[in-house]
Amino acid sequence: MKPFHYSKAANSGAAVAEVSAEPGARYLAGGTNLLDLLKYNIIQADRVVDLKRLDLKEIRRHEGGLRLGAMAHNSDTANHPEVRQQFPLLSQAILAGASAQIRNMATNGGNLLQRTRCPYFYDNALPCNKRVNGSGCGARHGSNRMHALFGWSEKCVATHPSDMCVALAALDAQIHTDNRTIAFEDFHRLPGDNPGQDTNLKHGELIEWIFVPQNNFAKHSCYLKVRDRASYAFALVSVAAALELEGKVIKDVRLALGGVAHKPWRARKAEALLRGQQPSEANFLAAAAAELGDAKPLEHNAYKVPMARNAIVVALQSALSGEHPLEGLS
Ligand SMILES: Cc1cc2nc3c(=O)[nH]c(=O)nc-3n(C[C@H](O)[C@H](O)[C@H](O)COP(=O)(O)OP(=O)(O)OC[C@H]3O[C@@H](n4cnc5c(N)ncnc54)[C@H](O)[C@@H]3O)c2cc1C
Ligand code: SF4
Repeated sequence: MKPFHYSKAANSGAAVAEVSAEPGARYLAGGTNLLDLLKYNIIQADRVVDLKRLDLKEIRRHEGGLRLGAMAHNSDTANHPEVRQQFPLLSQAILAGASAQIRNMATNGGNLLQRTRCPYFYDNALPCNKRVNGSGCGARHGSNRMHALFGWSEKCVATHPSDMCVALAALDAQIHTDNRTIAFEDFHRLPGDNPGQDTNLKHGELIEWIFVPQNNFAKHSCYLKVRDRASYAFALVSVAAALELEGKVIKDVRLALGGVAHKPWRARKAEALLRGQQPSEANFLAAAAAELGDAKPLEHNAYKVPMARNAIVVALQSALSGEHPLEGLS
């Protein structure tokens, strides 16, 4: 690991000034991703500015929704009474990620900016355009069973690893930085020609809080994560599903997928097919099949197509019934 200067910022303004002034400076939140990347020399830093003293831990109601501090821990967010009651989808998604110990350290801001878990990215001996643009993408024609179905480019086929972000995409969250508001859908990027850039955040821009607007999905939502083992495993496919019903008809629906793209994938085609329809298994299946019709599987990940289709149907059925499919299993 390359040595770096370490400092603790006293407030947001000081943190932004310190990091903005130095191209090699980085923010440190819980450190659960950043420190691994620095230790393995996947990324380097000249200066690390610790955010722990910043007054950004609060979770509270705010103008028609809930405001989640960037420095609030993932565990405190998932277990907050307002989150559990108003946004159980978000609570379930956070609790599906990592382990209790990591969620106690990890913060909401850091979760948004965690890097991909593509194994080529974490090995300096292997080609990876995300690490060194122009070196090639080892996964494109290599081992790509964990990789993307949607939105990938010849330069990068990685997926975004976060669970929390899939729920935030479905809930139409907004990211509030020190100088602007970014709609969740515009926050993360597809890889295109520049896979090193995961988000549209500028250097030195500080995430201060996340806004989740009020909705009518609390009674009918479900986060379903399909993975290789029950803990410490990233999603092969995950689904955030939420329904608002009016009589026997779907008034509104939100669907987002994890583990299938470089960013949380909002399943807008499926949503459009479901709005105004009856919440039947046949309609769920038709909507899921339509969304997956656009998938472009790689050599080793075609299994994700039926997996994602089935996961969408199960998540929607569970949202409808209010019973999580894995309840009582863990
Ligand atoms: C073994 C293991 C298993 C895991 N499994 C899962 C899983 O299943 N699902 C899942 O979703 N996640 C999983 N994670 C990832 C974990 O959720 C993230 O590492 C964590 O959320 C990152 O938060 P942090 O506060 O530790 O960020 P840090 O590591 O401190 O920072 C991450 C990045 O965010 C930047 N940053 C942090 N805060 C801000 C801010 N306020 N403004 C601007 N930039 C900021 C940092 O500069 C850095 O680039 C796992 C992690 C580990 C180690
Ligand atoms: S998929 Fe992306 S992160 Fe993985 S090797 Fe290719 S360029 Fe690197």
